[in-house]
Order: sequence, then C-alpha cells, then structure tokens
Amino acid sequence: MIRVTVLGSGTSHGVPAIGCDCDVCRSPDPLDKRTRPSILIEIVGQPASAFAGAVRSILVDTSTDLRAQALANDVRRVDAILFTHTHADHVFGLDDVRRFNQMQRSAIPCFADADALGSLRRMFSYIFEPPKQLGGGLPQLLLFRIAGAFTLGGVEIVPVPLFHGMLPVLGFRVGSFAYLTDCNRIPDESFALLAGVRTLIIDALRQRSHSTHFSVGEATAAAARIGAERTFFTHISHDLGHVATNASLPAGVELAYDGLVLEVPT
Ligand SMILES: [Zn+2]
Ligand SMILES: [Zn+2]
Ligand SMILES: [Zn+2]
Repeated sequence: MIRVTVLGSGTSHGVPAIGCDCDVCRSPDPLDKRTRPSILIEIVGQPASAFAGAVRSILVDTSTDLRAQALANDVRRVDAILFTHTHADHVFGLDDVRRFNQMQRSAIPCFADADALGSLRRMFSYIFEPPKQLGGGLPQLLLFRIAGAFTLGGVEIVPVPLFHGMLPVLGFRVGSFAYLTDCNRIPDESFALLAGVRTLIIDALRQRSHSTHFSVGEATAAAARIGAERTFFTHISHDLGHVATNASLPAGVELAYDGLVLEVPT
C-alpha cells in the first residue's frame, strides 16, 4: 500500500494570495488555505526487513512551502525526490532538504527528465557549482535522469508525459494512483499509461480555461476518460472556494486540500 499526503494543493501564488480581498482569500475555512503544490508518497504495510536501507518516503517536487509543509505534516524522512518540472512553485523549497540530509546522514537521489535536470543545475548553481565558502551548508543531492519507468522502494514509478501549455512535463503513476499536476493536455499515449488508475490527483486551476492548466470542466472530463473512482483536484486558485466548489462537482470528484491523506493499494 502507499499513503499519499497532499502537502500543498494551491496554485503558484498560494491561497490566500498576497494583497487579495476576495471571498476565498478571506475565507475562515482552513480548507481554503492552500500552499504550493507537492505530495509525499510513503510506501507502507510491508515487512520492516524489506526496507533495510530501502526507499520508503518519496517527495514529489520541493515546493516553495516545503519547510512549512514538512512541519505541518511531521515529515521526517525523504528518501527520494521526483520532479514534475522546474517552475518556481515546484522547486524553490529545495534548500530545505538539508534537514533530511542531516537527519538521514546521506545524500538524496533526485529524479527528473533531461530538461528539468538542466534547469535544476542552472537555477541552483550554488548547489551544483558550489562556492568555496559553504556557510550554512548545501543540500546533498544525487541527480538521475528519468528515461522510462523505474523502481523505488519496491514499487514501480511510471513517468507520464503531459503538456503544460507548450512545456512537456511529467506526471507520475504508482500502482493504481496517479499524480498529474501542472497540465492542460494528456497525450493519447499517456492515457494508455493511466489505464487502471483508480485514485487520481489532477490539475484544475479554476472554472475558466487557462493556457497552461486544466479548468474544472477539462479536468473532470480527463478524469472521466481515465476512469478513476476517486479524483482530487490540485493546483487550485483563489477562484474556487472549497465547500461551494465541491457541492458542484460530480460524485467521486472533489478538491484536494493541504493535509489530505489517501491510502491506495499498489
Ligand atoms: Zn505549478
Ligand atoms: Zn483572492
Ligand atoms: Zn508549472
């Protein structure tokens, strides 16, 4: 089984947005507070001996809010990091993984496609081309290029090519679960990779269409084509209030929220 924790369900600005007085940004409902998008996948329910030195806690993206998310959800291990793409909201918490390096006394393997690896090296040149004086220390990372499905902690990780506007990005499938953040088009070949997915987290920015993100209607249609039993929307903007939006969605489809935990058989 895997346990998926939604660390952040918000769009790049977060909700509330700085300086916004709209009803959702001013909402007292904690479900309307959304940090930047990320999930944690924990592999659970297998004999401890199978885990000697093995991967059991996989972070997807290192959001701007990583430190706050790790504290809020008591995240104590990160054995591997998967990157969907390198937009700022998905990577700018990378420096915070130093604490996991310290606690685990090891480097953390990071997996991304070739373009994303190049961007990470440029965006974080202080990590990958370090200066002489290290100050508070640097994240200890090992970069691996994703070139197809691979195995971590005994589970298969299937990269799912998606389009985020013109930008090719990755979703990830693990067993009957898939995480498809930041996309507005799923190629036919990727629908084939998603056959049999029962629990889905998918981008749905707002009701109106957008050039790089699915709208609620588009995400609902994509989820129906995939045939998931349970669908949760993420990367949610301040256009969508939690309670009101959920009341309008079809059965089996709802908004994710920060701190949502899903248990999925593998
Ligand atoms: Zn994003
Ligand atoms: Zn607002
Ligand atoms: Zn993005």
